[in-house]
Amino acid sequence: MESVIPVPVPPVVPIHGTAAVFPVRRIYCIGRNYADHAREMGMDPNREPPFFFGKPQDTVVPRGGDIPYPPCTSNLHYEVELVVALRKGGRDIPVAEALDCVFGYAVGIDLTRRDLQARAKDKGQPWDTAKGFDQSAPISPITPVSAGQHPHSAAIWLSVNGTEKQRGDVAQMTWNVAEVIAHISSFVALAPGDLIFTGTPAGVGPIVRGDLIRCGIEGLGELEIRVV
Ligand code: MN
Repeated sequence: MESVIPVPVPPVVPIHGTAAVFPVRRIYCIGRNYADHAREMGMDPNREPPFFFGKPQDTVVPRGGDIPYPPCTSNLHYEVELVVALRKGGRDIPVAEALDCVFGYAVGIDLTRRDLQARAKDKGQPWDTAKGFDQSAPISPITPVSAGQHPHSAAIWLSVNGTEKQRGDVAQMTWNVAEVIAHISSFVALAPGDLIFTGTPAGVGPIVRGDLIRCGIEGLGELEIRVV
């Protein structure tokens, strides 16, 4: 059948050490998944059930690089996160079977227009303009899971212009990867190609034009962006 417009092509994320790519279907993000970040956002980490939001598929920026400072904000923030790439999905995935859905892991930045997010929270409005803007999801190449080894504990860090701003360990996540997959799949059917940003440790802060942001997760490599 002839298409009346050019058919949108899904973005693809490179796979570490191969020429293969991972096509992206959907992007889910978990909010406040590290207690110290929940506290810095003024929330009680002990009383917050997990919640998630989405970014459009085409917000992915494979390998990072130059990212234009987005419009309509004067408070752009970085949030370094462990990203889960799914090789299979389903509904109501049990926690015990959830890690079997994982193809691999990457380092991502959940770029956030914090001023628009604060306004949305005040007014009870959705977070789309705060979280889902163009090029808001830079991501490193994906490291496939090998021999069933998942990053249950790994250092996660981010620096701005050489000064470290965030440092934690993925073991500090309130809801671990298996629980996050199981939780999201109770609301929607997950599928191959889905990415899940799993939340950020404390230390989030503003970025200005010209800033060089480097971040990484032990065992998964690094990601670098420059805001231009
Ligand atoms: Mn986030």
